[in-house]
Amino acid sequence: MKSQTAITLCLIFMFAPLSGCIESSDDDKDSEENPVNPNQIICPDGTNGTIEWGVITCAEPEVFRTSDVSNQTQSLTFEWYNIAATEWGNFGPVEIYIIGSDIDAAKQLEDEYCERHKALDSNWNEEWDCANDNYQIFTRYVEEGGAAISTFKRTYIEYDFMMMIMSAKYPGPSEEDYKPVVLHEYFHIFQHSQISDECSGDSRDTCERDSKMGGEQNPWFAEGGAEYMAQTLYSKQEGVRDNYLREVMQNKLDYSKDDYLGQNISLDQLTYSSEINVYGVSTWFTAYLIHNEGIDAYLNGFYGDLDELGFNGAFEKHFEKTKVEYIAEFEGFLNQSNEEIMSIIPLSPTNTE
Ligand SMILES: [Zn+2]
Repeated sequence: MKSQTAITLCLIFMFAPLSGCIESSDDDKDSEENPVNPNQIICPDGTNGTIEWGVITCAEPEVFRTSDVSNQTQSLTFEWYNIAATEWGNFGPVEIYIIGSDIDAAKQLEDEYCERHKALDSNWNEEWDCANDNYQIFTRYVEEGGAAISTFKRTYIEYDFMMMIMSAKYPGPSEEDYKPVVLHEYFHIFQHSQISDECSGDSRDTCERDSKMGGEQNPWFAEGGAEYMAQTLYSKQEGVRDNYLREVMQNKLDYSKDDYLGQNISLDQLTYSSEINVYGVSTWFTAYLIHNEGIDAYLNGFYGDLDELGFNGAFEKHFEKTKVEYIAEFEGFLNQSNEEIMSIIPLSPTNTE
């Protein structure tokens, strides 16, 4: 039995060719006898499922694209998204927006995004949450390129979701990098799915979600993790050259080691705007951490306890040192020869399992 709401939602969701459809929960009879989960959905295979922040779901992401983006780019993005979701667990709700190089098409998609969320969420604030002069949701990607994840788990919002943005450059869909970047962005979805805290949406407020990611403006843990996990997973895919992971890690070592060791800001205090490339050295920190502790302690141990114990609690429980001690030890590791450092990266992915 479906109510008007359910039908309306289904119609909205039909705009996304890859979506499931939310089932209504406001049937009175059902809710008296057996409270219906408001997160209930029908899975793509027709069975019943749920979609809820932090819980593995059968739901596929909803994919939207600007009018100048091809079917092929959409399929490529979806294919690599699924490789990541299969590896790290399928979380949601996720909306993927693929932005091309036409500014008017990007504006058009901003309008559609705005209308969609106004319809999905009565608390959606059109003035602040839709695109405006200070918040160029998709249009900035036409110029700047790149990729990102935004979380919409906020105190004032009813409909929680994560937004993945991919664009036409840095990297574009014809570049090899596009594939590990999709994996990288998905790992951020995994990370955010392990954290239940809601933020106010006002950047002046502190938010526990930022601390659990490794610190507001401090990319070391979240970015290093996403990059190392993505590159490792990519290196294991069919058709990727055997030496891929070592090439990538060697390159990151070359452009970050001397810069990092030659300055005096601790890894966890570096920011996105620091002069040195924080990503490279942070990826190496994660490689070192996982080499020592094992993937299970990182992925299931640390991330499994993060929400309950907080960043430092989960870190100390699973890695048996404070982050300050671990970073000091890592700096000792970095002070070795490049050959010794590189020895923790397997020669070929087939040797890792
Ligand atoms: Zn990232």
